[in-house]
Amino acid sequence: MNSAVPHATLQLPTAKLLIDGKFVESDSNQWGNVVNPATQQVIGRVPFATVEEVDAAIASAQRAFLAWRNTPLGARLRVMLKFQDLVRRNMERIARTLTAEQGKTLPDAQGDIFRGLEVVEHACSVGTLQMGEFAENVAGGVDTYTLRQPIGVCAGITPFNFPGMIPLWMFPMAIVCGNTFVLKPSEQDPLSTMELVELAMEAGVPPGVLNVVHGGKTVVDMLCTHPDVKAISFVGSTHVGTHVYNLGSKHGKRVQSMMGAKNHAVVLPDANRQQTLNALVGAGFGAAGQRCMATSVVVLVGQSRDWLPELVAKAKLLKVNAGHEPGTDVGPVMSKAAHARITGLIEEGVQAGAALLLDGRNVKVPGYENGNFVGPTIFSGVSPDMSIYTQEIFGPVVVVLEVDTLDEAIALVNRNPMGNGVGLFTQSGAAARKFQSEIDVGQVGINIPIPVPVPYFSFTGSRGSKLGDLGPYGKQVVQFYTQTKTVTARWFDDTPAEGVNTTIALR
Ligand code: NAD
Repeated sequence: MNSAVPHATLQLPTAKLLIDGKFVESDSNQWGNVVNPATQQVIGRVPFATVEEVDAAIASAQRAFLAWRNTPLGARLRVMLKFQDLVRRNMERIARTLTAEQGKTLPDAQGDIFRGLEVVEHACSVGTLQMGEFAENVAGGVDTYTLRQPIGVCAGITPFNFPGMIPLWMFPMAIVCGNTFVLKPSEQDPLSTMELVELAMEAGVPPGVLNVVHGGKTVVDMLCTHPDVKAISFVGSTHVGTHVYNLGSKHGKRVQSMMGAKNHAVVLPDANRQQTLNALVGAGFGAAGQRCMATSVVVLVGQSRDWLPELVAKAKLLKVNAGHEPGTDVGPVMSKAAHARITGLIEEGVQAGAALLLDGRNVKVPGYENGNFVGPTIFSGVSPDMSIYTQEIFGPVVVVLEVDTLDEAIALVNRNPMGNGVGLFTQSGAAARKFQSEIDVGQVGINIPIPVPVPYFSFTGSRGSKLGDLGPYGKQVVQFYTQTKTVTARWFDDTPAEGVNTTIALR
């Protein structure tokens, strides 16, 4: 992570704040660098917003709320319709920025934006999800109905690994429901997020409805404690997400925290061998393992343990290079700090006695000698007490465990502290059905390595991967970003009055 350093007068793009409809340069004297992970070139500067700036963003959102919640639903939906068109048309340009600041390959950067775009597309049609319910004549001449209403100023805090998709999980659905929003993007790669925000404003989001502040813990803590913020959506690590959940909840806010992962892929011997091995390699090492749904643990059941040499052979073929170079499979990891953490954990695995079948630590990328590269790395002989199994490595490292039965595999997965994603590879419907029923993990893939649900469903998670009842996007997030009110109503006609009644009605 870039430490905050004084703002020098460098001729570099700066991440602007968005306050009250205006993109403004921060007055902060604390700034960080946005660094290209393949080259170490500083490509931009990001401010750590001041207390006054965060206050101004929240105040703007609070002021804008009344008019925006009273803006007809159709008008709000049409802003999203324009936004989705602008995102689609600018996807390639934004993907280039995303690759430069985050490192992932260009096609993967486009995928990052595209998966967010799908949420925007869904946001264009969520009118039906905002409808209330009606029950006629619940008592003599009395009807009861619910209104689903926006809650006010909502805040979003996003991680570095999906600067396109995850901000788009949040603000489009929040504002289409009639709320206003304050977004705090990752300070490590805010530039592509800001390009998306610019398009939202071009699409007609009114001043104050969407605001952006940059920064780290201080800004996040302000969002979690400010009395005018009603709800917080967080995506990031378990450590920070738990802090955000606890602090926000203590201050009376709705909070949803989507957090860390250790995603297992369970391989039964009857699985389609080539399809499975290809899926494992793609899901383990794509995006340099920096996906919250990356396969980081492979569990070989019974005779599928014989597939291990082929898994290693396939991983060896992946091309490690800068993300913008054609044909790259694995780009650099996010930062020098991430590189040090990942290589440190690999060393811990070696010291703990796991077998390092493929070591990506000394990979050399000609022309990008300063890049934060770690090549595909595979451990076998891993036991559940080793730190390479208990910790989220968040790099291109796959650890392999072997068990004898599906029951043992299920028990292993369910004992892990995380429960974000899991995959089962098999040709047996009975095994798949048992697995989906007994596994305690939010996203389950059957012969699908990265089972991120499309936006009509919602993302979820178990145990250390999620706090809060309702997940991002889909039906659940409409519930998260709205509150229901029940109205019980009776309209009098000319029937004579019944007189005073002091008891609870018996219906
Ligand atoms: P992170 O937790 O370090 O940062 C997330 C956000 O919190 C950033 O905006 C950051 O500025 C802020 N932050 C950092 N430290 C803070 C602190 N001490 N107090 C308050 N705020 C703080 O996460 P990251 O490294 O950016 O992202 C990687 C993590 O995100 C991984 O654990 C990954 O599994 C997780 N992730 C989860 C999902 C999901 O849906 N479950 C999706 C993507 C990423």
